[in-house]
Amino acid sequence: MKLILLGAPGAGKGTQAEVICDYLNIPAISTGNIIREALKNGTEVGLKAKSYMDEGKLVPDEVVIEIIKERLAKDDCKNGFILDGFPRTVPQAEALDAMGIEIDKVIDIEVADEKIMQRLSGRRVCSDCGASYHTMYKPSKAEGVCDKCGGKTVLRKDDHPDTVKERLSVYHTQTEPLKDYYEKAGKLQIVEGQEEVKDTSALVIKALEA
Ligand code: ADP
Ligand code: ZN
Repeated sequence: MKLILLGAPGAGKGTQAEVICDYLNIPAISTGNIIREALKNGTEVGLKAKSYMDEGKLVPDEVVIEIIKERLAKDDCKNGFILDGFPRTVPQAEALDAMGIEIDKVIDIEVADEKIMQRLSGRRVCSDCGASYHTMYKPSKAEGVCDKCGGKTVLRKDDHPDTVKERLSVYHTQTEPLKDYYEKAGKLQIVEGQEEVKDTSALVIKALEA
């Protein structure tokens, strides 16, 4: 199954991508994580992306399209995949179509902006493996330490409130039109993501089977 998760930053795409990954045994692919990894390794892609990312802007389409092309060509994507954070603009969606990739379903996770502001200020991510936590909703066992790898968990630079506002505005203008794009293609499933993680997961699984 080839899936796309849509939704605002902080809607819980990453968390639900992991749930689907376990459920369907297909890889979850996050362009955000790939870019952060590239940044950490000091590669050219990372350097190109850094200033955009820090300001809450989108990395240019041609950069992320190249990233996703490379990633989807890998062996583990043969039986399907979950895209988390791609596409984020109409040209990115068109590029995916142009690659000849037939997406089965697009699940859009809906969360109100106020709730997102609240969530992202409490989000912590592992600076080593990228695992995601929340000070209120999903704390790591030891404060500041990743459960999975023992790395340090930190507030992402782009999770600071002013940057979150910018990301939300970018989302509404550039990414939200994708709902229409995939609705017209008959692929869109909308899921309510306001409540607890497990409630959203149940709805996501239902949407997969619908
Ligand atoms: P979130 O979904 O919480 O905003 P991500 O980790 O998916 O976080 O993305 C963080 C940042 O990485 C984005 O603000 C953007 O700068 C960059 N990025 C990730 N995916 C894309 C994409 N498909 N197109 C453009 N920029 C992207
Ligand atoms: Zn970790």
